[in-house]
Amino acid sequence: MFGKIKEKLSRLAEKLSTLIETREISEKELADILEEFKLDLIESDVAYDVAERITELLKQKLVGSRIPRTENVQVIVRKAFADILRSMLMDPPNISWEIRRKCEKGEPYILMVMGVNGVGKTTSIAKLASYLKEQGISVLLVAADTFRAGAQEQLVKHAEAIGVPVIRAKYGSDPAAVAFDAIQHAKKRKYCVIIIDTAGRMHTDQDLMAELKKISRVVKPDFKLLVIDALTGNDAVEQARVFNEQVGVDGFFLTKTDADAKGGSGISVSLTTGKPIVFVGTGQRYSDIVMFSKEWLIEKIVGSNA
Ligand code: GDP
Repeated sequence: MFGKIKEKLSRLAEKLSTLIETREISEKELADILEEFKLDLIESDVAYDVAERITELLKQKLVGSRIPRTENVQVIVRKAFADILRSMLMDPPNISWEIRRKCEKGEPYILMVMGVNGVGKTTSIAKLASYLKEQGISVLLVAADTFRAGAQEQLVKHAEAIGVPVIRAKYGSDPAAVAFDAIQHAKKRKYCVIIIDTAGRMHTDQDLMAELKKISRVVKPDFKLLVIDALTGNDAVEQARVFNEQVGVDGFFLTKTDADAKGGSGISVSLTTGKPIVFVGTGQRYSDIVMFSKEWLIEKIVGSNA
């Protein structure tokens, strides 16, 4: 997980360390080394403009600090990189807390989940439902993908496995109406959170975008969560951009980070849209879910004490 960025950062730190310990390095030399690091980041799925911002900040920090030879250069470079991530990334809202706050007022928290087919949306909904259930929060799932054959059954199977109720609908029915009715049901039965699974045809499909916009208009979600597959690299950024522009995204569920050797897509998705990663999928089991935090990511890439 995030292995490639971690490895490239180590290489940068080592290279600078070897150079600085033997002689003074010029600004031009530093610029060349950082240019190479920028390409390394791009190769690790960091979007071009994000890689450029990171290396520019790194340059400012390293030139400005005039590293003395006696210092541990590796530590300084790692710390600079960690600080840049700290300043650029966002910590997500505490969803469990927000759900509880709304629930105390007698209203269900409405979580609308979006994502292209295959990114791990259904599994992630189940992980999330299970995570909330374990905290004593009552969850109702809604299968509002009335388009794809098998979508309803897939969600029902997960719901049964984790012991959470699910409302299903007829294929071909209006997903916005299904979601609206489910909310009325959730209010009556005093569910604390309602998680709406939506259709996930191609993100370039205008009908899908129109459908999602309509659901959003009708149910007025408290949070619109976009599920993104870390393995899709640059396409992840494109999906994030399109969903955010067309429907609006409040945060991301980044899946398959356990299988992602590179690690740049998550960072890019968040930095390109200005929206936080909220949850991270770290495997195929229901318990493989992590609440994202900046420090969690920094620890994965830079290590502790940075
Ligand atoms: P959907 O079409 O977006 O609903 O995708 P699914 O939920 O059916 O997931 C597609 C595949 O991705 C399944 O085999 C899941 O087990 C797998 N998957 C989902 N999340 C993760 C994850 O965090 N890590 C790994 N390794 N696999 C995942």
